[in-house]
Amino acid sequence: MKPRALVTGGAGFLGSHLCDALLADGYSVVAVDNLLTGRMSNIEHLRREGNFEFLHIDINRPFECGPVNYVFHFASPASPVDYMVHGIDTLKVGSLGTMHALEFAHKHRAKFLFASTSECYGDPLEHPQKETYWGNVNTIGPRSVYDEAKRFSEALTMAYHRYRGVDTRIVRIFNTYGPRMQLNDGRIIPNFMKQALRGEDLTVYGDGKQTRSFCYVNDEIDGFLKLSKSEEHFPVNIGNPDEFTVLECAKRVIAVTSSKSNIRYEKLPQDDPRQRRPDISKARKLLGWEPKIALNAGLEMSLDYFREAVAAEMPLKA
Ligand code: UDP
Repeated sequence: MKPRALVTGGAGFLGSHLCDALLADGYSVVAVDNLLTGRMSNIEHLRREGNFEFLHIDINRPFECGPVNYVFHFASPASPVDYMVHGIDTLKVGSLGTMHALEFAHKHRAKFLFASTSECYGDPLEHPQKETYWGNVNTIGPRSVYDEAKRFSEALTMAYHRYRGVDTRIVRIFNTYGPRMQLNDGRIIPNFMKQALRGEDLTVYGDGKQTRSFCYVNDEIDGFLKLSKSEEHFPVNIGNPDEFTVLECAKRVIAVTSSKSNIRYEKLPQDDPRQRRPDISKARKLLGWEPKIALNAGLEMSLDYFREAVAAEMPLKA
């Protein structure tokens, strides 16, 4: 019999790619999602897949969906725009949701992998960020609904490991991009792609000197699978260590899309981290993992998706 995996947030950007990868890896998969920010279109292609099922479930309440061998807990709004709009839901899913997912894993003696985030490092004072860095997070700022929910979920995951013996893993995910990102989720790559493809100005926040390190989704998912098969219980950074300023990223998107767009500077959001870059020595050593797809190649691989998404959004001409 195939091993069975549960993916919470299975209709989201990362969750849906993870479902694809788990099916390819020989799992049968049950995806649950309350569709707050997830979309059925992300899993539409799996509708006729016999080893896949989708359940419209809100994990903020206790839930049951039959025995599984693995729980991948990926449910949460994830873009700054989304989690600031859905602040309380973000705190709920990163506390109640995580607890119910852990209870479920405990009940079925399933392994558990929690999707954590580089936001645990906040506006980091240590650069690049190693897993041993405790972070610099504003507990009451606008990003705290996400950051503190994820930090609490890490604590809860470790507690279920230590006190209840659940076989847990924690991945700290850095900026990831690729097909299935929502065009309007406000994140840098979908925003810049949309603006470049429409010939609008690219909105660079602040002076554009803040940095991020972008990982193509296939590389990221490969890291999740490798971690899921390891015996490591402490957090592992999975991300691409190639670091770019936001301004450089805008220029790359303009070049890849052959766009004539200009750059427009806008106000920097509060508590926007000034720099972010994963130290991935732990993942390299422990998992033999490192990303393979450079930013330009990944942007090119994402182009068809964003073109179609932009075309689907254009109002029909009268
Ligand atoms: N950003 C920007 N213009 C945009 C969207 C984002 O300059 O249209 C910047 C944002 O201020 C941040 C970086 O790009 O410094 C990454 O933002 P994103 O929302 O993708 O995620 P974050 O890494 O902040 O969680």
